[in-house]
Amino acid sequence: MTKTLAVLGSTGSIGVQALEVAELMGFEVVALTANSRVDIIEEQIRKFSPRIAAVADEKAASELKIKVADTSTKVLSGARGVEECARCGADTVLNSIVGIAGLAPTLAAIECGSNIALANKETLVAGGKIVMNAAEEKGVAILPVDSEHSAIFQSLQGCRGKNQIKRLILTASGGPFFGKSRDYLETVTLEQALKHPNWSMGAKITIDSATMMNKGLELIEAAWLFGMKAADIDIVVHRQSIVHSLVEYVDNSVIAQLGLPDMRIPIQYALTYPDRFVSPVSQLDLAKAATLTFEKPDYETFACINHCRRAFEEGGLYPAAVNAANEKANELFRNGKIRFLDIPKAVEAAFDCVKSVSHHTLEDVFETDKLVRKETERLFV
Ligand code: NDP
Ligand code: MG
Repeated sequence: MTKTLAVLGSTGSIGVQALEVAELMGFEVVALTANSRVDIIEEQIRKFSPRIAAVADEKAASELKIKVADTSTKVLSGARGVEECARCGADTVLNSIVGIAGLAPTLAAIECGSNIALANKETLVAGGKIVMNAAEEKGVAILPVDSEHSAIFQSLQGCRGKNQIKRLILTASGGPFFGKSRDYLETVTLEQALKHPNWSMGAKITIDSATMMNKGLELIEAAWLFGMKAADIDIVVHRQSIVHSLVEYVDNSVIAQLGLPDMRIPIQYALTYPDRFVSPVSQLDLAKAATLTFEKPDYETFACINHCRRAFEEGGLYPAAVNAANEKANELFRNGKIRFLDIPKAVEAAFDCVKSVSHHTLEDVFETDKLVRKETERLFV
C-alpha cells in the first residue's frame, strides 16, 4: 500500500485525478512533474508541498522556479529533471505522462525500487520487454491504471496459475465513429474526433480512441502485463463502458469488473492494492444502466487494431515502430496537417521502417522512435 507517492504528468487528465485520490487517501506527495502547464503545477505544488518538481520544457521550468521561489519545493528542468523526480524513492510512482516521454522515467523509477502505477501505456508498447525484465529483476510491481487492465488485474485476483486462464477480453467503447464506414471517415474533422462518447481524457488518447489505435496499444499492454500471447486476447465493443474487461478461465467461467466509467476507481486500486477503500465515485445502478451491449469490432475500418496485433506478434522493434508512427500521425492530425485516415496508413507504413532483430536495447527503441517519426512526416505531410 502506498504511503509516499510521485505523480509524473500530474497536470494531465489522469494526473489531476490521481492527486484527487492521493488527497482523499492522505498519501504524502513527494514529487510532481509536467511538460509546460506551469499554472497548474504551481497550484499543485502549493497544495501538496512535494520535495521536488520538474517541468520538461526548459523555459516553462524557469518560469516555475520564479513562481514557487517562496516554497520549499526544489524545481528541476528538462527530461533529466523528470527522471530525477522518478528517482525520488517514493513507495509508488504513478506515471501518467503521455507518449514515449514516459519510458525513461518508468525505468528510472523501477531502478530505484518504487512500485509503478502505470497509466502511460506507450511505455509498455515501445519498451515492453525491457520494462518487464527490469521490474522483475528489481522485484517491483507494475500496477495497471488503464481501466481495462485494472479490470483484468481485478478479475485475476484469486487466479491460481496462468494455465487456468483461457483468454483475456478487452472491452472497447468504439469511440465516436463506431458503426461508421471508411468513406465517412475520409472527411471527419478534429472536432468530431475529439468527441468521445463516455470518457473525458487528454487529446492524444481521445484521438487514439477514435482510430481505435488505443485498443491496439492496450492489446500489447495487456500481453506484456499479463504474459499472454496476442492470439489469446480478444476485443469486444461495449458501447456503455460499464464492463471494463473480462477474463475467461479454462472452465469457460468468465469474470469481469464493472463500474461507472470513472478513472478514479482504477487509479485508487493501483495505489491501495491489495486493499480497497471507500471512493467518491458513484455506485453503479445496473437497473439504470438497463442495457449492456456487446459487438464485434470492425477490424477493416479500424485497421490500427490489426496493425498492433501484427506488431506484437512480429516482436522486436515493431511495437515501438507502430507506436512512434501513431504518436507522430496523431500529433499531425491534431495540428491539421494530415487527414484522419492517414493515421492508420502511417501506422501500417511503420512496418517498412524497421528491420527484424532478435535482441534490442533501449537505445534501439529510441532510435526506432526517432526514425519512424521522421519517416511518417516525410511520407504524409
Ligand atoms: P494528458 O495529455 O491530459 O496529460 C499528459 C501529461 O503528461 C501532462 O501532465 C503533460 O504535461 C505531461 N507531458 C506531456 N508531454 C511530456 C513530456 N514530453 N515530458 C514530460 N511530461 C510530459 O494525458 P492523459 O492524462 O489523458 O493520459 C496520460 C497517459 O495515460 C497516456 O499514456 C494515456 O494513454 C493514459 N491513459 C489515460 C486515460 C485517461 O482517462 N485520460 C485512461 C487510460 C490511460 P503538461 O500538462 O504540462 O502538458
Ligand atoms: Mg483504457
